[in-house]
Amino acid sequence: MKIVFATNNKHKLSEVRAVLGEGYELVTLAEVGITDDIPETGDTLDENASQKAHYVYERTGLDCFADDTGLEVEALNGAPGVRSARYAGEGHDFAANNRKLLAALDGCTNRRARFRTVISLIQGGVERQVEGIVEGHITESESGCEGFGYDPLFIPDGHTCTFAEMSAEAKNAISHRGRAVARLVELLTE
Ligand code: IMP
Repeated sequence: MKIVFATNNKHKLSEVRAVLGEGYELVTLAEVGITDDIPETGDTLDENASQKAHYVYERTGLDCFADDTGLEVEALNGAPGVRSARYAGEGHDFAANNRKLLAALDGCTNRRARFRTVISLIQGGVERQVEGIVEGHITESESGCEGFGYDPLFIPDGHTCTFAEMSAEAKNAISHRGRAVARLVELLTE
């Protein structure tokens, strides 16, 4: 099955490709000629995922899906949430985002957090959404160099190391995106 994944993030692409498996031919934005940054102007992950999927569908008419992920920190009332990519300002600077998060939680004992991914699928012109969540906590300092984004600061419940210290397979098996993609596969195979 051929399907467009609305992302330019190579980490996401390889994570999603690994979970989807052989039965799916994942087509990138570049491969369908979309090179611009897709707007993400919604106030929620659901809105942004939907906006990105519609952007691709309107330009290609192809079955497609888009994801939007946020890190929701309990002590920060759910921030950075939908603003996770731009937490420290425009420019998608992972290191600056991580520094800002550690500073915001300085001296804070409640470090509970979760990653939440929403995927919007448009198939045959019909849109459906699925979600994946992983609960955990934010560390006091960065550890590990795998993955991307907030991975060096996030330890999932039941584990002692950060996502950035795990193999891609181990992260995928329990991550927000891995869980959302598993639900996406259920939709695609219904
Ligand atoms: P996006 O809008 O789905 O691209 O995600 C927003 C931001 O959340 C990204 O720029 C990353 O900073 C962060 N993020 C998304 N997924 C992950 C992940 O799997 N691990 C760590 N950070 C992530």
